[in-house]
Amino acid sequence: MPAPARLTIDLGAVVSNWQFLKSQATHGQCAGVVKADGYGLGADKVGPALYAAGCRQFFVAHLPEGIALRTALPQAEIFVLNGLLPGEVGPYRASRLIPVLNDPGQVALWMKEAQGAAAAIHVDTGMNRLGLRVDEARTLFTEPSVQAYPWRLLMSHFACADEPGHPLNQIQRDAFFDIAKLLPDVPTSLANSSGIFLGTDYHGDLLRPGVALYGVNPVPGKPNPLKSTVTLETSILQVRRVDPGMSVGYGAAHKADRPTRVATVAYGYADGYIRSGSGKGAAYLSGHALPILGRVSMDLLTLDATDLPEALVHPGAMVELFGPSRSVDDVANDAGTIGYEILTDLGRRADRVYIGAR
Ligand SMILES: *Cc1c(COP(=O)(O)O)cnc(C)c1O
Repeated sequence: MPAPARLTIDLGAVVSNWQFLKSQATHGQCAGVVKADGYGLGADKVGPALYAAGCRQFFVAHLPEGIALRTALPQAEIFVLNGLLPGEVGPYRASRLIPVLNDPGQVALWMKEAQGAAAAIHVDTGMNRLGLRVDEARTLFTEPSVQAYPWRLLMSHFACADEPGHPLNQIQRDAFFDIAKLLPDVPTSLANSSGIFLGTDYHGDLLRPGVALYGVNPVPGKPNPLKSTVTLETSILQVRRVDPGMSVGYGAAHKADRPTRVATVAYGYADGYIRSGSGKGAAYLSGHALPILGRVSMDLLTLDATDLPEALVHPGAMVELFGPSRSVDDVANDAGTIGYEILTDLGRRADRVYIGAR
């Protein structure tokens, strides 16, 4: 029995986005960030599609994500961002995963126990979240044993890359490339999706895009250079007439001011339609807009179908909640959040259909 909602994921568009992002690099190296199950699209599908297109480096957040991804990608380099906890050297080595080491203790533990296996080092240049402090890095990187170790990658992460004018971008870049001089043979990696568009002097040797692979606009306020990758459609369950003066949904938040035809569809906040999107934006059916009325319920949304041809609006008809007619960024703007959150919450109860795989 099919689920009432269908999430169509275009792996061809993901690959094409990766190729476009890679084309921005002067050195030509571009990884794929597939943490949080490929931002909700399915790391086990996105990973192999990118690998087939030539991507060889992947980033996840958690060790278990890396272990799972190893099954889908037997040959790729898989970096794990969240670092190394005591007792994890064994599991990292067993799955040939590359830890991103975030403090001097993690660096020491890996050097002691990992017998020369590959690892990355993260220097925190302004997030104050994960990574070595710059002064810690400066001390550590002058130790002969650290200098002699075959580090795979030296990285840092931008706090404000989506605001090109923010002064922290340049401060972080300068701090990063300054500290990188102490380990001149180690490849560098600095730019996430938005960072790529700050210019090539913000890149380093390996780009690390995540959200832009999945079609979210990395340059807010400018036209999105990337392709949309996801379409979410859901079924109309019931169509009803609501008389003027009656209300719709919880809190009686919408009051009908005209005879209104309401289409109730099978998608709510438990599916990932964030509740702050109540009463904002519209769904689409054959090019017609159906404005969202009243509050988002757990399992349902109510849409204004008054202005649509009656024959189109019937139980079982599918409406598009986002996709070609309404981007993930539009949904995010309406709900007061960012495309990242919409994507990673995507279609928990939906059937998934993958298209465009080679
Ligand atoms: C999530 C993440 C990325 C990818 O960021 P996007 O903004 O999605 O491109 C890159 N680097 C690190 C350290 C991250 O945590």
